[in-house]
Amino acid sequence: MTVLPLSEADRGLIEEAKSIVRLRYVPRWNCVGAALRTTSGKTYAAIHLDAAVGRVAVCAEMIALGMAVADGESRIETIVAVTRHRDEDWEVLPPCGMCRELLSDYAPGAYVIVPTASNLAKTLVVDLLPMKDPEAETYPPLDDHEPGRHRALPQA
Ligand SMILES: [Zn+2]
Repeated sequence: MTVLPLSEADRGLIEEAKSIVRLRYVPRWNCVGAALRTTSGKTYAAIHLDAAVGRVAVCAEMIALGMAVADGESRIETIVAVTRHRDEDWEVLPPCGMCRELLSDYAPGAYVIVPTASNLAKTLVVDLLPMKDPEAETYPPLDDHEPGRHRALPQA
């Protein structure tokens, strides 16, 4: 398992995740924020969407990933999620199982900032999902990562 210390940019990413929670916090409905940085240096921050029926809730990491992909940025370098318990009492959250799956499909080389026993560190998303199907497809299916060059539509 790859475990690295946080860089200044990583600490800035945590602050971006905190900022989106401060800006858009609604108790229960929007209380987890995520921020990601692409290899080109762009950052995207999103808030989670809770729901009356909990199983349709969408994690902040997924929304941040969608924002990046919609912007043509599919190379994710690092992602983090945070929640605020009270005042400025923050917690960095490890991604849930569904986010581990989605992130490892879209960004298998991405780092995730996670809490450890003693501090915060970053690790590869694939290290958080060690038994993933090695034959699983990843995004984009072509090796060149050119935006817009994705799976060809079936011909009629
Ligand atoms: Zn999740």
